[in-house]
Amino acid sequence: MRVESLDLENMDICLDKAIKVVGEYIKDISSDPVIPNIKRENLYDLVSQEIPFEGIGVEEVIDDVKENIIPYCSKIGNPKFLSWIITSPSPAGTIGEILNVGLNQVPFCYKSGPAATVIEETVVSWFANMFGYTDKSGGILVSGGTMGTLTGLSVAREVHIPGAMKKGLQNIKKPLVVYVSNISHKSVETAASVLGIGSDFVRKIPVDSNFRMDVEKLKEQIEEDRELGYDPFCVVAQAGTSNEGAVDDIDRIADLCNEQRIWLHIDAAFAGGAILTERGKTLMKGIEKADSISTDPHKWFFIPVEAGCVLIKNREHLYNTYRTSDKAFNADEPIEYMNYGMQFTRMSRAFKIWFAFRAYGLNKLSKVIDTNMDLAQKFTRIINESDKWQLLCPTQTSAVCFRYVPNLNYSDEELNKLQNSILNELELSGKAFLAPAVINGKTAMRACLSNHRTSYEDLEFVFKTLNEIGERISKA
Ligand SMILES: *Cc1c(COP(=O)(O)O)cnc(C)c1O
Repeated sequence: MRVESLDLENMDICLDKAIKVVGEYIKDISSDPVIPNIKRENLYDLVSQEIPFEGIGVEEVIDDVKENIIPYCSKIGNPKFLSWIITSPSPAGTIGEILNVGLNQVPFCYKSGPAATVIEETVVSWFANMFGYTDKSGGILVSGGTMGTLTGLSVAREVHIPGAMKKGLQNIKKPLVVYVSNISHKSVETAASVLGIGSDFVRKIPVDSNFRMDVEKLKEQIEEDRELGYDPFCVVAQAGTSNEGAVDDIDRIADLCNEQRIWLHIDAAFAGGAILTERGKTLMKGIEKADSISTDPHKWFFIPVEAGCVLIKNREHLYNTYRTSDKAFNADEPIEYMNYGMQFTRMSRAFKIWFAFRAYGLNKLSKVIDTNMDLAQKFTRIINESDKWQLLCPTQTSAVCFRYVPNLNYSDEELNKLQNSILNELELSGKAFLAPAVINGKTAMRACLSNHRTSYEDLEFVFKTLNEIGERISKA
């Protein structure tokens, strides 16, 4: 009987071809346009296909990718891609991921990926070390910050209500309440929803003039909730809010949480990478006091998507939440990742991080992140020194939020519209890409300088281009 196999006779040729495509894409990443200007219906014509019952062969599909897919990719690694916080992946991270996909390890247990399991332990311990956690801590690689915060809060819930993973919240007497600042990321509400707490039970605490959670108001709200019969169980502090890049006063919040016996989770999805710098360490002072931390290697650590890392100060709590048997926690027993998170079949997300960190060294990454923060400060200065431009929040990490104010006769509503029009034009020009953000109800242009390729010249160019567009539109 002839066995139908999927092996390829021209495997070497195909691999060389595919790798070359990736190499050329990365080499070409600095060219225009940053965002392709193509209508969705045209892409349906080009890309979508009938169900392919008969194959055409790998080389033909690669040719099609070159012709019909690559021109319609957003150049995330372009030095003038300054939107959101999707960072430019490091080439070593990409190479690591290519190898990783080839090896296809599944580290849910040791046997399904011995090296991958130990690599994950290693990478988790590196992150634990960066944030000042001890050997007692543990963690797992997840898809991103959303899953990291969901995991952290699930552990917080299990610690607060032992047995919640089994019994759910069917028997609790008092509704659980979570606290975040009113500019926190939506993923906290998602976690509360998924965990049966409900997003209505996420209290949004106002921020101060530096966009940091007002700790006095947090304390008052906790006390008020207790009096009203709620059960305050978790605070999520931000180490880098998505829009402003603001870092909460973690040290003070940690002391308050400790005093109040409330779990403290840190959302360090955005600015976690800054822990590699002296400035970042100062901003995140006290972070080692938190009960759990989630950070995104796929953001400011320049790892290709997807890679999130959640750390739990006391590994036992993570085990008790996700263990797949009744076996009690034993610190001496080797880690099997199926007992430490939600997934069974899972990719090795640690491999590309292990690879890139070893290839570059953390000292080098630290310098890149420091440069990003310098650029953010320089750009802030440019904005502050130009009379038609206005900064909308202090620059704490790498996000700069600003707007164009051609003259004082504009209403806020008109200004909001103007910012969006300028950004649209910029995007259509293909020269750069910035996303808008809303700061205190005002529309801002937001430049996120967490891109390892962006230079000061790039920034000057972006500013000059924005100026030209702004002048042209406001005169029209
Ligand atoms: C990006 C981000 C998240 C969500 O992380 P994902 O990796 O996108 O799931 C959460 N919080 C903050 C502050 C973020 O910037």
